Amino acid sequence: MAFKMKKFGHVKVDRAPLDSGVLAEARNDGTIVIDANANLNKKQMNRVIKHEMKHMQDMETGKAAYGDEWLMWNGNIYLRRTIDGEKVIDGPAGRLPEGHADHPWEAEAIEAETQNNKKEDYGI
Ligand SMILES: [Zn+2]
Repeated sequence: MAFKMKKFGHVKVDRAPLDSGVLAEARNDGTIVIDANANLNKKQMNRVIKHEMKHMQDMETGKAAYGDEWLMWNGNIYLRRTIDGEKVIDGPAGRLPEGHADHPWEAEAIEAETQNNKKEDYGI
């Protein structure tokens, strides 16, 4: 069955092809995009959306902002770099690949994946 665009509050969830290795992303325009080729069951989809919703909330509250060459977290700017073809961020926990669980913004989004809140059931 084809995926239909969904809305949760004002956040749109849609599917589109993403860069290889990227499963989902929260965009500045208020859209969460899930890779068109990702094969996710309901439970996995729920987790992925909860994760991206946390990034979205952080953007909306001003806790985080994302630019092409930088990232802001809690009022501090951290720079993105590409080293030996790998995208990294010099973050508060050191130089780590994008999406690494030790970046504090990722740690919080990962925690949000398993928070059991019935209101936040995005299994679609
Ligand atoms: Zn993330």
